[in-house]
Amino acid sequence: MSTENTYERLGIPEAERTYEGDVTPVMPAAFIGHGSPMNAIEHNRYTEAWSMFAASMPTPKAILVVSAHWYVNVTAVTAMRVPRTIHDFYGFPQPLFDVEYPAPGDPELAQRITDIVEPTYVGLDTDSWGIDHGTWSVLRHMYPRADVPVLQLSINAELPFDYHFNLGVKLHDLRSKGVLILGSGNVVHNLRLVDWHSPGQGTDWAHRFDDAMRDIMTHDANELGTASAHGDYAMAVPTPDHFLPLAYVAGLAAAAKTPASTIVDGYEMGSLSMTAYQLRSL
Ligand code: ZN
Repeated sequence: MSTENTYERLGIPEAERTYEGDVTPVMPAAFIGHGSPMNAIEHNRYTEAWSMFAASMPTPKAILVVSAHWYVNVTAVTAMRVPRTIHDFYGFPQPLFDVEYPAPGDPELAQRITDIVEPTYVGLDTDSWGIDHGTWSVLRHMYPRADVPVLQLSINAELPFDYHFNLGVKLHDLRSKGVLILGSGNVVHNLRLVDWHSPGQGTDWAHRFDDAMRDIMTHDANELGTASAHGDYAMAVPTPDHFLPLAYVAGLAAAAKTPASTIVDGYEMGSLSMTAYQLRSL
């Protein structure tokens, strides 16, 4: 089967197709609702959707992930050649602690990122972070061979929503350089209200908030800054760490003037939403 037919079968837009001798295509971008760390070693309809998403695009030159789990008081990008796999959770089965995701880093790209976002300051992290489970629980399904370089961008907890949205806008040009940008969090994420007897279920307020955010992301992502005025925001977003990765994808959507579309959605344990969004070239 020809490359062109393969692209058609997978529904890949023309702008993302590459042919021999072509310039780099514009890469998609996505927000992934990662949910429980157990998704790293389980197979379900969410993980299936993540691997299908990866299969629907050319292999990226590098992946930049904004993970909910690198939520610190500074903005930094990982810049080590060999990032370590971080097991940043407690009380899970041993097989999850045994997972390694040995993707290489890309220090040159890290340096380029600090340049393109100027005058916003992004530090180069050579020894503190690596690849956390917000990243590897998803990438194990998307790129199981761990052969694409991975960088993480920290979420600066000191700064407001608009800072994160605007930083997302500034990352836009990376999409045409072969970089896949992912936000990894959860739109609705309230661990205090988790109900272990509600697998596959969401509370009324979780549905209302997730639906409202979907309406914004699939129409005009510029409006995502209004989320904090939503009546269910305090329940859905008790802390901003899992929500803010969506701000980066909203910024990318605004820069590309492209609405997002849903990759997969659903609820878990009442107070988690698993909605994932993609941005594709038109
Ligand atoms: Zn998480």
